[in-house]
Amino acid sequence: MIADVVIVGGGPAGSTAAYLLSGWGMRVLLLDKHRFPRPKLCGGLLTAKTSALVSRIFGVPSPELDRLSEHVAWGYGLYYRRRPILEDSTEEPFRLVRREVYDAFLLEKAREAGAEVLEGERVVDLDPEDPERMVIRTAKGRVLKARFILGADGVKSLVRRRLGFSEKAAWRRGLALALEVSIPRRALPVAEPRVYLGYVRTGYAWAFPRKEDLLLGIGALLSEAGGLSRAFGEFLSDLGIELRQGPRAHLIPFGNFLRRPARGRVLLAGDAAGLVEPLLGEGIFYAHRSGELAARALRLHLEQGHPLEEIYPFLLEQNILPQLRQALKLRGFFFRRAHLLSRNPFRRIWHLLRRPCLDVVHGKRHYFLSRWMSF
Ligand SMILES: Cc1cc2nc3c(=O)[nH]c(=O)nc-3n(C[C@H](O)[C@H](O)[C@H](O)COP(=O)(O)OP(=O)(O)OC[C@H]3O[C@@H](n4cnc5c(N)ncnc54)[C@H](O)[C@@H]3O)c2cc1C
Repeated sequence: MIADVVIVGGGPAGSTAAYLLSGWGMRVLLLDKHRFPRPKLCGGLLTAKTSALVSRIFGVPSPELDRLSEHVAWGYGLYYRRRPILEDSTEEPFRLVRREVYDAFLLEKAREAGAEVLEGERVVDLDPEDPERMVIRTAKGRVLKARFILGADGVKSLVRRRLGFSEKAAWRRGLALALEVSIPRRALPVAEPRVYLGYVRTGYAWAFPRKEDLLLGIGALLSEAGGLSRAFGEFLSDLGIELRQGPRAHLIPFGNFLRRPARGRVLLAGDAAGLVEPLLGEGIFYAHRSGELAARALRLHLEQGHPLEEIYPFLLEQNILPQLRQALKLRGFFFRRAHLLSRNPFRRIWHLLRRPCLDVVHGKRHYFLSRWMSF
């Protein structure tokens, strides 16, 4: 089969693009190295903007999203180590999903829309055979051809590496390492997602409740990776938790987003393009959104002849990149001064600012409060 588009990776970025492109009548082949449901280390926290986006794209109404979620929280907590800065309610819920379930659900939606999905197929190579077709090879020896390729294959993206994007200084400087562990929910009475500052200089720790367990994690830039286990140990000890098993680790793009993730007939979306918000580490929203924008770019290219290498970066610039740049600018300032937030008068100021800040998190406005967002 010669597909119009081969999508590598069936996470949120890949399934979104596959769903839309198939719905528009294109022949889509999606390959994932895993069989679904597959494990994915993630906090699984969906902000309101993510829920709204998923509802709009996949036509999943809020009650169905609630059923898909492990937990729906109408509040949150912000702490500086053990000291509370803020414990507050929210007008919009945070949904906490188990990624194994969430990703499998959305991949099924893509399949229902007409995408052919090959699970357990690891892509090991790709190269242009002629100006019109790309060749994709899998570990099982399958050779596939496509007019276009979308790399949605996560932070260690093979597609990105094959395109020749630099993996060196700038990319590595913007990578974070995250550790995460699951403990039984009864071990700690936490009903809302909590964020803990002060254990690392370039990130934070978290406690995210699900139905039966609680995810405890910590993430910081790779420059701090040497001390991350010790920092995680301090966090756990402050919570009074003793682990029976070691945490699992995973990389997160954390400020190394690519401005132009397009080369020839190949596009990158989601973590593969580094599209994660560099203050909060929120990636699910940006994976869905960039998957959608990549699909729109392909459609505009095919229907109106817009050059792919121009139209996709343009759409990203219009819809995603300003927000990521603003978050990156704020990050140093915010984490450096985190210790002040639990003390007056800063604590009081933070209380006054909490609604606009929450609006930013939920996507009702940009960081610098300049423009209302629409999804
Ligand atoms: C510990 C941790 C906690 C996080 N918590 C949150 C959170 O609470 N909220 C949030 O919004 N974000 C969170 N993130 C970020 C979020 O998980 C990612 O940004 C998001 O999963 C990106 O989606 P994606 O579709 O781009 O890639 P992924 O979800 O990583 O999917 C990539 C897919 O590609 C497949 N693949 C990879 N290589 C190949 C290959 N060679 N051939 C075929 N298939 C391949 C993989 O099997 C995978 O299914 C967290 C990340 C970590 C590490």
